[in-house]
Amino acid sequence: MKRRRFLGGLAAGAMAPLGAARAQGGAPADPAAVEWSRRLPVRHTADVAVIGGGIAGVSAACAAAKSGASVVLVERFAVTGGDLTAGGVANFCGKMTGQGEVFDEIVRDLTAFGALDGTNIHYEILAVVLQELLLRRGVKLLLHTRFVDAVVRDGVLTEAVIAGKSGPEALRARLFIDCSGDGDVARAAGFAVERGREGDGLPLPMSMMFFVRHVGADETRPRLPEGWFSPVRRQEDLPMTSVWPDGPGANALKVKIPMFHSTDTESLTAAEIRGRRRMLEVLDYYQRVEGKPWRLDHCSPIIGIREGCRITGLQTLRVDDLRAGRRFDDAVAMGTFYLDGHKPDDDKRTYILPKDELDVPPYQIPYGCLVARDGRNLFMAGRCFSADQLALSSARVSTTCSMMGQAAGIAAALCAAKGCAPAELDPALVRKTVEDRGGDLRV
Ligand SMILES: Cc1cc2nc3c(=O)[nH]c(=O)nc-3n(C[C@H](O)[C@H](O)[C@H](O)COP(=O)(O)OP(=O)(O)OC[C@H]3O[C@@H](n4cnc5c(N)ncnc54)[C@H](O)[C@@H]3O)c2cc1C
Repeated sequence: MKRRRFLGGLAAGAMAPLGAARAQGGAPADPAAVEWSRRLPVRHTADVAVIGGGIAGVSAACAAAKSGASVVLVERFAVTGGDLTAGGVANFCGKMTGQGEVFDEIVRDLTAFGALDGTNIHYEILAVVLQELLLRRGVKLLLHTRFVDAVVRDGVLTEAVIAGKSGPEALRARLFIDCSGDGDVARAAGFAVERGREGDGLPLPMSMMFFVRHVGADETRPRLPEGWFSPVRRQEDLPMTSVWPDGPGANALKVKIPMFHSTDTESLTAAEIRGRRRMLEVLDYYQRVEGKPWRLDHCSPIIGIREGCRITGLQTLRVDDLRAGRRFDDAVAMGTFYLDGHKPDDDKRTYILPKDELDVPPYQIPYGCLVARDGRNLFMAGRCFSADQLALSSARVSTTCSMMGQAAGIAAALCAAKGCAPAELDPALVRKTVEDRGGDLRV
C-alpha cells in the first residue's frame, strides 16, 4: 500500500472545508485567519466578577463581598497576590495605615504569622493570607483560570469567557472589575487603552526577582559554565540590581529588564528568557568577581511587570495632579509614593525625571479613574487604572493598588445593589464607604 506523507495528508485535510465553502458560493476564507466559535456553559454567575487576583483584585473582591455582593475572582496562577507573590516583589511601599479595612486585615494577618518585617513580606505566607481572606468573605475563587474573552452586548459586558482545567466556560456578572494589570478585559472588549510612553509606547521596565542563600565553601554552588551567555566582569557593566535583605543568610535580588511589553505574547516570552539569562549573568558576577557565598535558591515564576496597559477612564490621573497634590471632590483613594518612573529604554539606575523632581505630595485618586470610559459596566483598579505613565509610576505601588481595589469593589457592589451603571453612581457614596471603612483620603 502506498503511504501518504504526513504533511501532504495534513495539507489535503486542511484544504477540504475551504474548498467546500467556495463550492457553496461562500467568500474565500482568509488564509491568515480562522473563524472559531463554540457554545459555552454559563458555569458561574455573580453580581461582581473580578479578573486578576493581585493585591488590587483581592482588595476589590473582598470589599465587594463585604458590601453584600456575590463575587467571583478569576486568577490565572495557583496563588493570588500577583507581582507581590508570583512576581517575588515581597515588599509594601507607600503608607501602610489608612488604606482601608482590607489592607488592615492583610497587615494584621501577616503580623500574626510573623510574616511582616517592617515593609518586607514573607510572600509565601502572603499567598496564604490572601486566599484565606477571600474565602472568609465568601468570594468564589477560581485559580488556574485565565480570562480569555469578553462578550459585549450594546456596550454591556455580559459574560467573561474564562478557561481553566475544566475547559472554556462563561462567567456571567452584572459588573466587571479589570485587575489584570494588563487591561485584558478592556482589550478583549475593544475598549480604549493606552500603552507606555508617549511617542514610542515603551512601558516602564520589568525586573526579574530571584533569591539566593549563603552557603559554606564546601557546599555545591551551581555556576555559569564557560561559554554561556555574556558574563559581567565589571561593576559598571551590571544592569540595575537591587540586593535586598531577605532574612539572615539569604538575599533577594532584582535585575532590571527594559524594552519588553507584557501585552505581547512574544515580547513577554522574550522578557522571561532574557530575565533568566540576566539572573545567571548577574549571579556569576557576584560569585566570581565579588566572591559572594551565594547559591541560587529560586527565581520568581513570572517576571515583575511595572506597567502593562492603562485603561482609558472617565477621568485620567496626570502627573501634574500629583505634583499639585490635587484634591478631587470624588476622591476614593490616595497615593503617597514618589514618582518611581524608571527610564523605559535603559537597564541602569536611571529615571525619566531628574532625581530632584521625583517627590510628590500625597495626592487623591478620583472615582472616574476607576471607571472605563467605554462600555457601561467595567471598573478597573491597580496597575491598569486610568493614568499617564508618570502618575502610574507612583500609584502602581501595592498600598495604593489595594486602596484603588477596595474603592472599585465598594463601587461595583453599590451599582449591583442599585441596579445602576458606574457612570450613574454618585461617587460621594463610594467616598463615604471608603472613609467609613478606614480609608484616609485627607491630603
Ligand atoms: C520589580 C518590581 C518591584 C516592585 N517593588 C515594589 C515595592 O517594593 N513595593 C510596592 O509596594 N510595590 C512594588 N512594586 C509594584 C507592585 O508590586 C505592583 O505594581 C502591584 O503589586 C500591582 O498590583 P496589581 O494587583 O495591580 O497587579 P498584579 O500584581 O500584576 O496582579 C494582576 C493579577 O492578574 C492576574 N492576571 C493577569 N491577566 C490575567 C488573565 N487574563 N486571567 C486571569 N488572571 C490574570 C495575574 O496573574 C495577577 O495575579 C514593584 C513592582 C515590580 C514589577
